[in-house]
Amino acid sequence: MFLVLLGAPGAGKGTQAAIIAQRLDLAHIASGDLFRQAVEKGTKLGQVVKDYMDKGLLVPDEVTIQVISERLNEPDCETGCVFDGFPRTVEQARALDEALASRGKAIDKAIYIEVAEEELLKRLGGRWICGGCQAPYHEITSPPKVAKICDKCGGKLQQRSDDTPETVRERLKVYFAQTTPVLDYYRRDSKLVEVEGKLGIEEVAEAIVDALETGSVAAK
Ligand code: AMP
Repeated sequence: MFLVLLGAPGAGKGTQAAIIAQRLDLAHIASGDLFRQAVEKGTKLGQVVKDYMDKGLLVPDEVTIQVISERLNEPDCETGCVFDGFPRTVEQARALDEALASRGKAIDKAIYIEVAEEELLKRLGGRWICGGCQAPYHEITSPPKVAKICDKCGGKLQQRSDDTPETVRERLKVYFAQTTPVLDYYRRDSKLVEVEGKLGIEEVAEAIVDALETGSVAAK
């Protein structure tokens, strides 16, 4: 099964993608995590993407598509994966369809986690991420058991450098301009599933699993 998780920054894509990937035994491909790891390691890719990320802008499509295509070649993606944070432009969505088609596969469903803008701003303020395994936390909705320490790997939690108020505003602007057309791309293809994202983490996960089981899609 190949799934795409869509939603604004702060909608909970990363959290839900990790849950769904584990429940359905799928690989979890998060473009933002791949880029952050490259920046951390100081690779050539990291040097290319850092400036875009710091400004809250999208990394150019050709770079992003290349990184995802390479990741798709890894054996854990053979039977399926959950894409988180990708595609973010219609161009990327088309490229993903082509990349999967060339492997004899296709996207099954695109799940849109819908959250109101003021809630997004609130959530992005309290967000923490593990510097080791990238697990996401939130001061209010999903705090770690021990302050600033990852429950899963014991790594140190950090605030993302692009969660500053200024960059958050830019990222939301970029999302509404460049990524919302991706919703229509999947809606036209009868693959879009809409889920209310303001509920708790478990309830949203249940809603996603239910929608996948019943095969319900958003109206065109
Ligand atoms: P995220 O962790 O998904 O919020 O991504 C963090 C940053 O990585 C974004 O603000 C972009 O600069 C970059 N990025 C992640 N995914 C993509 C993508 N699919 N296309 C372009 N840039 C991306």
